[in-house]
Amino acid sequence: MVDSHCHLDDKRFDADRDAVVERALAAGVTKMVSIGTGDGPPDLEVAVRVAERYECVLATVGVHPHDASKAAPETYRHLSELLKHPKVIGLGEIGLDYHYEHSPRDVQKAVFREQLEIAKSARCPIIIHTREAWDDTLAILDEHLVPAGLPGVMHCFSGGVREAEICLRMGFFISFAGVVTFPKATDLHEAAKVVPADRLLIETDAPYLAPVPHRGKRNEPSFVTHTAARLAALRGETAEQLAAQTTANWQYLFQRQY
Ligand SMILES: [Zn+2]
Ligand SMILES: [Zn+2]
Repeated sequence: MVDSHCHLDDKRFDADRDAVVERALAAGVTKMVSIGTGDGPPDLEVAVRVAERYECVLATVGVHPHDASKAAPETYRHLSELLKHPKVIGLGEIGLDYHYEHSPRDVQKAVFREQLEIAKSARCPIIIHTREAWDDTLAILDEHLVPAGLPGVMHCFSGGVREAEICLRMGFFISFAGVVTFPKATDLHEAAKVVPADRLLIETDAPYLAPVPHRGKRNEPSFVTHTAARLAALRGETAEQLAAQTTANWQYLFQRQY
C-alpha cells in the first residue's frame, strides 16, 4: 500500500518518527508521501528533509491555503527549484480553505493560481486541498489547470457523488482518508462507491483524522490499512484488490513523465 498523503514532518512525530515509519513498513505500507507544507514559507523543505532520511518516503512542496499570506515572490522561485529534487514528486497541498480562513480568500486564490502556473511549467502532478470552497476551487482548476492537461489528486476527498463526478470529469484522482471509516459520513460513502477503480487513492493525512478504531488519537501511516479495509468493503472489493489497485494508480500518476 501507499499512504499518498501524510505530514511526517509534524512535531507530533519528533519523539518516535523512526518507529512510525517502521510500523508502516511492517503493516505493508511500502511508500509514504510526506506533504511539504509545514508551517508555511519561508521553510518549504520540511518534507524534503524527511524524504532524505527514509528511502520509503517521498516528498511534495507547496504552500497550503492556510499559509497563503506568507507567500512572497521568492517563495515561487524556491518552489520551482525544489520541484527538481529527485524525491519531490508533486506540488501540494494547494487549494482553498474557507472553513478556517487563516488567510483571506482573495490571497488564497492568488497563491493557488500562482502555484498552478508553477505546476504547468514544471509539468508535475498537483495535490488539491479544498474545504468548504468547492465552487471556487473547481472554477480555478477549470480555467487554469484543465487546459494544461496535468493530473492531480483531490486529497482527503470530502464531497459527495456530485463533486466526485465533477472531479473525475476534470481528470482528477480521488483520495480517501480516515473520514470514510466514520459511520456518519454517508455522502462520502456514496461517493466512494462511484469512483472507478483506476482513479482511486488512499491516504492518512496523518497526524490528523485517524480512522476508526483509532479515531481521536494521533494518526500515522500504518493506519491507512483501516481506511483501505473500509473503502474496500464499501465498494465490494477485497482489501488486497484495493491495495494493489491504489498502489498501481499511485505509480501511474506520480512515476511518469508529463
Ligand atoms: Zn489538506
Ligand atoms: Zn494534508
